[in-house]
Amino acid sequence: MKNTKIICTKCNKVYPADILQDRCDDCHEPLEVEIVKKGKIRESNFLGQTVLERYADFFPYFKEVDDVSMREGFTPLQESKKLAQEMGIAKLYFKNESTNPTWSFKDRGTLTGVLHAIKIGYKKIATVSSGNMAASVAAYGAKSGLKTYVFVSSQIPAEKINPIAIYNPILVTVEGRYDLIQRESLRLCKKYGIYMINSDAPFRVEGYKTLAYEVCEQTNFDVPDYVLVPNSSGGHIRGIEKGFREFKECGLIKKVPRMVCVQAAGCSPVYNAFITRADQVERIENPHTLAHGIENTLPLSGNQVLRMLKWNKGFCVSVTDDEIIDAQATLASTGLFLQPESAASLAAVKKLKHEKYFRGDEKVVCVLTGSGLKYTAAFEHHKLTHYTCKLDKLDDFLGSQQ
Ligand SMILES: [Zn+2]
Repeated sequence: MKNTKIICTKCNKVYPADILQDRCDDCHEPLEVEIVKKGKIRESNFLGQTVLERYADFFPYFKEVDDVSMREGFTPLQESKKLAQEMGIAKLYFKNESTNPTWSFKDRGTLTGVLHAIKIGYKKIATVSSGNMAASVAAYGAKSGLKTYVFVSSQIPAEKINPIAIYNPILVTVEGRYDLIQRESLRLCKKYGIYMINSDAPFRVEGYKTLAYEVCEQTNFDVPDYVLVPNSSGGHIRGIEKGFREFKECGLIKKVPRMVCVQAAGCSPVYNAFITRADQVERIENPHTLAHGIENTLPLSGNQVLRMLKWNKGFCVSVTDDEIIDAQATLASTGLFLQPESAASLAAVKKLKHEKYFRGDEKVVCVLTGSGLKYTAAFEHHKLTHYTCKLDKLDDFLGSQQ
């Protein structure tokens, strides 16, 4: 840990990695663990490995791996030939993060965040979340025996509370605007010596690199042209981009895919800044989208996502709730039931097709962030049907359906 540096994403000021420091003292922008420039995959039977064992060279600061892993990662990359044809592109893949231990992508980052907390001596961890991250931190806190605090916005749907409470953290629903809850919790955790595993904390972002490594392996290192990521705080897309960048630096792949930051039209601060060529995101005052997981009015890593998109030649797409629901139904037609936030990535592909953006030879990955069962209220937006039938009429009914 002592040989690792974390660096300000804006002014390049260097900080040690064995302290808890999320943001730069000078410019208040997010910090990032320095890039790995030399490494290879520890090839073995992945069924017996954790992501940190397989990609150990890319996590040089975790020499010995504690018993924290819940076998996160190694999620399926599902190809849809039918949808690729409909979208007019060469290949369309879905990276299905709902197969993680708490059914969302968050587990990759919680693993590395919790490991960092333990390594630098913390006994208490916390998070602020609208759902997925809360469940993930609560689960990993329980597994590793750390006292765990979870602050949740009082506006989240009731069905999201108990899946957090089941892990028995100190769970608090807080009234107030989400970004203000985030900032106040950060201040209080510092005061009480609690490690905040924030959405864009440097060692959480590190965990998200593993998604990129897996995509490289799953595509036999023929990396995609575009990776679409639904965006909330910006930590997820930053981690994925860093993973590709590290593999390129190490000579494992030839190019880094263009990253596409997907936001909901009802709350799209990064998109708004991107299309006006602004350097800074501005707060959204009246957010409204059913994709609550990406309803982040002032993303902590928003400015850094804008900087990253510049060097990466990436871009932003915003999609309406109707487009998200339509994409959720399309995903279900391929056998995948994901939460609305996840469907935003496919909605963005549909939008790009509609705008005639594609030439036809593109390889595209949509990151599907979490399970559809996380937000069953979305059902009411679909025209779902079923039949009722008396037992003695079942024969007639099936006959009529042939
Ligand atoms: Zn700085």
